[in-house]
Amino acid sequence: MDNNQKLKGQSALVTGASSGIGKAVAIALANEGARVVVNYSSHPEHAEEVVDEIKANGGTAMIYGADVSKEDEVQAMFQAMFKEYGTIDILVSNSGIQKDSGFAEMSLADWQKVIDVNLTGQFLCAREAAREFLKRGVVPERSVAAGKIICMSSVHEVIPWAGHVNYAASKGGIMLMMKSMAQELAPHKIRINSIAPGAIQTPINKDAWETQEALDKLLTLIPYKRIGKPEDIGKVAVWLASDESDYVVGTTIFVDGGMTLYPGFASNG
Ligand code: NAD
Repeated sequence: MDNNQKLKGQSALVTGASSGIGKAVAIALANEGARVVVNYSSHPEHAEEVVDEIKANGGTAMIYGADVSKEDEVQAMFQAMFKEYGTIDILVSNSGIQKDSGFAEMSLADWQKVIDVNLTGQFLCAREAAREFLKRGVVPERSVAAGKIICMSSVHEVIPWAGHVNYAASKGGIMLMMKSMAQELAPHKIRINSIAPGAIQTPINKDAWETQEALDKLLTLIPYKRIGKPEDIGKVAVWLASDESDYVVGTTIFVDGGMTLYPGFASNG
């Protein structure tokens, strides 16, 4: 094992870590020495694969099944983590879903489900983490901060998205939830930030990259002309969780190949 690991001795919880971005984040944090809880909501076998990969790399991890939109399940997950690892140092609130439809056709159930998982889920997990950080305080041998929370947002916290009003509303909500939490908790040495991915190749957006035609269309929105990889997000999560980013508080880091640069204006509008 590498003795210069940036997150050595710390404990991390990554929600929705059985797939896509969460999986890459869990593996990246573990490779830097964090013990990781790999949360999933279905398909425990996928979460097991992530734990197997972490262990094969010499790391430590456990799986835990919980629906992040359910208060009792979230609280039980944190208790299970505390029992196993003693505490939490890093929360990556990553779970997210889409239920797309035209606005006039959108059902209340589809609106509510996306808000419940994407926004309320992040609230519930952040609240449990904050309670532990406040109770425990700074442990100097692990980190100069009392705890770190990383919210997985999206470029759609600023880019409106027709046909995805519930999703864009959830991500816009995350933006001000994150900033308000960060403002309130920073005096307690709790650092809260967001990562806003652009188009990252995962199951959530398969339609956008599955065919060459779809991918070519997607690339017109990305000045850097490549689709993102989950590992692109993993690297930023490690940095945001580490003391290297200690003065970064309440900000969103866009990891999007330039998607938020109004690419439609690249050829003079
Ligand atoms: P994904 O579908 O591969 O992964 C989503 C994860 O969330 C899965 O592990 C799933 O089990 C989990 N999940 C779903 N409902 C849950 C629930 N109720 N409780 C707990 N976990 C639940 O998608 P992804 O692309 O890896 O997305 C991860 C996050 O990144 C999401 O918040 C998504 O909005 C965000 N994001 C993704 C992209 C992209 O291009 N892929 C872009 C911007 C933002």
